[in-house]
Amino acid sequence: MLGKLYIVSTPIGNLLDVSKRAINILSEVDFVFCEDTRVTKKLFNKYDIVNKLKVFNDINEHFKSNEVINILNDGKNVAIVSDAGTPCISDPGYRVVNAARKSNIDVITIPGPCSAIAALSISGLPTDNFFYQGFLPKKKGRQTKFNELSKFDCSIIIFESPKRVHKTLIDIHKYMGDRVVSLCRELTKMYEEVTVDKVSHLLNNHKSLKLKGEYVIVVAKEDYKN
Ligand code: SAM
Repeated sequence: MLGKLYIVSTPIGNLLDVSKRAINILSEVDFVFCEDTRVTKKLFNKYDIVNKLKVFNDINEHFKSNEVINILNDGKNVAIVSDAGTPCISDPGYRVVNAARKSNIDVITIPGPCSAIAALSISGLPTDNFFYQGFLPKKKGRQTKFNELSKFDCSIIIFESPKRVHKTLIDIHKYMGDRVVSLCRELTKMYEEVTVDKVSHLLNNHKSLKLKGEYVIVVAKEDYKN
């Protein structure tokens, strides 16, 4: 019999944000593939989970996929987690899911936190229709991407690092106009902060922006009035 592949969501900061089912699966499967064992061990220690960890990340995903499929073909169950949130969402995983489906292996979701959806849900911006951009191109294709995004008639979710968030706000203003944005920082963590305002106001007050931690930017559609 073939094993089962579980795609398990884990917390985006607050370690209490994990489901009982996720804890059970991470304890019961034969192997857990993770991005960084140090990060996953913090979750394991918190919930007394003892299991075999193997590393699976952007760099080795291609050849590790074969290893995962071989384990599943041997009838063993595998869970995949990422450092935070839902695997495969701007994180490694989709290649192995694809390979598993092609091998008729059951792929099962253990849903839970995802920073993109968490940010959207507390933005106050329209949620009926949205586009998930994830990380923007840093150089090549960046302007083209902004021009493309500016035509979308929906809320847009962007992931950004603290180092680049100021530059990205400048580019949103430059290429998309003075949109309303929701700047979500350190969700579920001690310094969680959400600011909803026009980009021009955020830029004028940028000295008060604490450019540390992790950010999701939700950009409102052009005609949205706050
Ligand atoms: N798969 C993950 C998820 O489901 O949330 C996203 C992984 S992606 C590599 C990491 C990015 O997610 C960060 O750069 C940041 O934009 C966003 N992110 C993750 N955790 C966050 C948090 N607690 N607060 C705000 N943004 C967060």
